[in-house]
Amino acid sequence: MLSNKKVFHACYTKVNPSVEVENPQLVAWSESVAELLDLDPKEFERPDFPLIFSSSFPLVGAVPYAQCYGGHQFGTWAGQLGDGRAITLGEVLNAKSERWELQLKGAGKTPYSRFADGLAVLRSSIREFLCSEAMHSLGIPTTRALCLVTTGKYVTRDMFYDGNPKDEPGAIVCRVARSFLRFGSYQIHASRGKEDLDIVRTLADYTIRHHFPHVENMSKSESLSFSTGEEDNSFVDLTSNKYAAWAVEVAERTASLVARWQGVGFTHGVLNTDNMSVLGLSIDYGPFGFLDAFDPSYTPNTTDLPGRRYCFANQPDIGLWNVAQFASTLSSAELINDKEANYAMERYGTRFMDEYQAIITRKLGLPKYNKQLISKLLNNMSVDKVDYTNFFRLLSNIKANTSIPEQELLVPLKSVLLDMGKERKEAWTNWVQTYTQELSASGISDEERKASMDSMNPKYILRNYLCQSAIDAAEQGDFGEVRKLLKVMERPYDEQPGMEKYARLPPAWAYRPGVRMLSCSS
Ligand code: AMP
Ligand code: MG
Ligand code: MG
Repeated sequence: MLSNKKVFHACYTKVNPSVEVENPQLVAWSESVAELLDLDPKEFERPDFPLIFSSSFPLVGAVPYAQCYGGHQFGTWAGQLGDGRAITLGEVLNAKSERWELQLKGAGKTPYSRFADGLAVLRSSIREFLCSEAMHSLGIPTTRALCLVTTGKYVTRDMFYDGNPKDEPGAIVCRVARSFLRFGSYQIHASRGKEDLDIVRTLADYTIRHHFPHVENMSKSESLSFSTGEEDNSFVDLTSNKYAAWAVEVAERTASLVARWQGVGFTHGVLNTDNMSVLGLSIDYGPFGFLDAFDPSYTPNTTDLPGRRYCFANQPDIGLWNVAQFASTLSSAELINDKEANYAMERYGTRFMDEYQAIITRKLGLPKYNKQLISKLLNNMSVDKVDYTNFFRLLSNIKANTSIPEQELLVPLKSVLLDMGKERKEAWTNWVQTYTQELSASGISDEERKASMDSMNPKYILRNYLCQSAIDAAEQGDFGEVRKLLKVMERPYDEQPGMEKYARLPPAWAYRPGVRMLSCSS
C-alpha cells in the first residue's frame, strides 16, 4: 500500500514511477545540464525522449527509489515528510568522473506520499525548472533541472482563492544534483529513538565519504582551534573529529548560500529543514520570489502569513536555526559534542557576515564595507519601495565625479526613483552625494567599477510575473515563452539587446493574488 506509511529503519525505498501519462510533450531542456551528463543535444529530439523522462519508458539500468526524510515545518517537528513525489532514477557518472543523481519530481506515489497524490502540476514545474537554471546562471549553488515534460494528464489542485479545486496539466521535472540529501534526511532517524541513531552515523559516514572526502582526509598536522570569546579556554580542534569538521562545513556552506540569496534578493519561501540541502544547494523551488519593490518583510508564500517566518529579512536567522537543528541531530547521535555544535553555529554567523558584507560592498562597487552608507541606502529603498534589481543595475552608471550639479545627481536612477516628493528627493540626493564622494576617494575608474558592478548586479531576474506569463502560454500548449525565458535567464548579467522587456518593472497585474505571492499548492 503506497499511502501514509511510516517507513522505519531505512534511508530509502525502491519504488518505480507510477504516474499515468498520455502523449507526453517536452516543454524545455537545459543545454548546460545536458553537457554535465555528456548528453548529445540530438537525444532531446528523439521521439521517445518525453516517454523516458515522463517515466513511461524505463531508463535502462535504473533502480528507482524514493528517499526517507522528515523535517521541522514552520519551527515545529513534523515527522516523516518525504519524499512523497520525487523518485531517483540513479546516478550518471560523466566523463569527468562526476556523479550526478537524476530525480523525477511528480512521477507518482511513493511509500512517503502520506495522503497526497505524488504528482506535480505544470505551473509549479515550470517555476522549478526555470528557477533552478536561473539560480545556477546567477552563480548561486542549486540543484539543476535537465528537462521538463508534460504528462498529458490532469491533476486536481486547490490553488484558487474561491476554495474551488481546479484541474491543471500535470508535469514532471528531471532534477539533477550531486545529492538531494537534506537536513531532514538525518533528523528523521535521530527522531526515532536510540536504535536508529546508528542510521544517522552510517548516513553521515556515507555523506562524508562521497561528498566531503577532504574532511575525511583532513591532515592531523593542520591544527585548527578557536576561542568562544566569553568562556576563554574552550578550544575546538577540528582535526580530531571529522564529524565536527563536517558540521562546520555544512554550517558555512549554508551561511554562504543564504548570503548569496540576500545579495540577489531571492526569497525561498519555505525554509523548513527538509528543504535544506546538506551540500548547501538551493533546493525545492515552491512559492519563492525575487524582491521587486524593496521590502525586507516580503513573504512570497501566502501559507506563511501573517507570521512571515520565512520573509526575506529573516532568512539569515532561519538558516542558523536550521543549522542548529542539524547540529543537534549530530549531537544526539554522539557524533559531535555541545561545544562542537556551538562552534558550527558560531562559524555560520561569521561566515554569513563576512560573505554578505563582501557581496553588498561589491554590489556598490566600493573598495571596502561601509555600514552607514549601506544602511542608509536600504532604508531609503524600503521607504520608497525601490525595485531592488533595477536599482543596483543602474547604480553602476553613477560617475565618481563630485562636481556634478545637485539637480543632476539622480538622473542615472530616474527610472527607479518614481513619483518622489521634495523631501524624499533630498534624502536620495544626499545619499548619492556621499556615495559619489566614496567612489571618488576609491580611485577606481568608472569603467572598471561599472564592469565589476554589472557582473554582480543582474539585469535579468526571474520575476514571478515573468514565470506567470510563461505558465499562461504553456497551459495553452505554447512552450515558446518558457524556452525564451530560460535563454534570457541563462545570461542574467549580460546586456541582451532586444530582450529589455524582461528587465522591466513589474506591471500592475503582477500584484494580483497568486502571482507575486503564491500558496504552497503545487
Ligand atoms: P514542501 O513543503 O513542498 O517541501 O513539501 C513537503 C513534502 O510533502 C515534500 O517533501 C513532499 O514529499 C511532500 N509532497 C508535496 N506535494 C506532494 C504531492 N503532491 N504528493 C506527494 N507528496 C507531496
Ligand atoms: Mg520540499
Ligand atoms: Mg515543494
